[in-house]
Amino acid sequence: MIGAWYAHCLLCPRRCGVNRLDDRGIEDRDKKTVNLTGNRVNDSGPRLLGFCGESAGLRLASASIHRGEEPPVTGSGGSGTIFVSGCNLGCVFCQNYQISQGGAGRPVSSAEFAEICLALQNRGAGNINLVTGSHAVPAIAEGLDAARAAGLRIPALWNSSSYESAEALELLRDRIDMYLPDLKTLDRDLAGRFFRAPGYPEAASAAILKMMEYRPGQVIIRHLLLPGFLESTREVLRWFAENSRGRALFSLMTQYTPVRALNGGPELPARFVSGEEYETVIGWFEEFGIEDGFCQELVTDSAWLPDFSRVNPFSSELSTPVWHWSGGFV
Ligand code: SF4
Repeated sequence: MIGAWYAHCLLCPRRCGVNRLDDRGIEDRDKKTVNLTGNRVNDSGPRLLGFCGESAGLRLASASIHRGEEPPVTGSGGSGTIFVSGCNLGCVFCQNYQISQGGAGRPVSSAEFAEICLALQNRGAGNINLVTGSHAVPAIAEGLDAARAAGLRIPALWNSSSYESAEALELLRDRIDMYLPDLKTLDRDLAGRFFRAPGYPEAASAAILKMMEYRPGQVIIRHLLLPGFLESTREVLRWFAENSRGRALFSLMTQYTPVRALNGGPELPARFVSGEEYETVIGWFEEFGIEDGFCQELVTDSAWLPDFSRVNPFSSELSTPVWHWSGGFV
């Protein structure tokens, strides 16, 4: 099944059309001979890697019992969070850049993926929370099927940037019980500047509409507030009010941490969200009549910033590690 999807990859809206079964591109990536920020073009020959830079193999970075999600996701036992390595969006402000763009992680087979899911279940997780797997949907679908066959009973959550094609979502449809999509921006200019995807607003809003159709009431739309870009947040709130009321909850995240901006990254302020910005956005909730959802307290330090080089990338209060790419089960 996987081969058919990856031989000419049109899996996500980037529609690169590359053959991800050809591992020569991965050798190039690992030698860093390709452009790691744009469409990956081999130095001397045909394009071997797509924008995400991934082969057909599913790579994972970590699995843990996470207690920092929204209350219905964390539940009483914690969320069994599986971080997938790689990404098809590549946001300049990514907090997980070590695994999304920095290469950390290792390939796992469907059988290993199933073992990891079962280990999370056995340690009390209330769900399997699949983070940023949009570039690996066929492999994850196969892994989930293997996990179900081996005894996985808890619900599966799809936690993504919403940069997904209708075909990929259809593949997930019967396998996913709840969706946690980001709606990062509806501004084509910002989407082009921050993740080289000016078509993101149309693609992401279509994907979220599809998720709400598949699982009405089982969708939490997340939005990360970016300091200095409040108008983008206002448009997202307006979209939510017009399209999602009664079918999804809204979750405002304030944990933007200026990791790249401090290092000279492009045009993002080297600061956290201010109290004034936070209050302004809270006022808009009332204006748009948005009452159902969650709002993270204002974050003003880097306590939420993970470090995936550590076996527990988060604080021990937030997370209990179960599996890590560097050494397997903990
Ligand atoms: S999943 Fe990767 S290779 Fe496939 S279309 Fe998207 S970015 Fe390109």
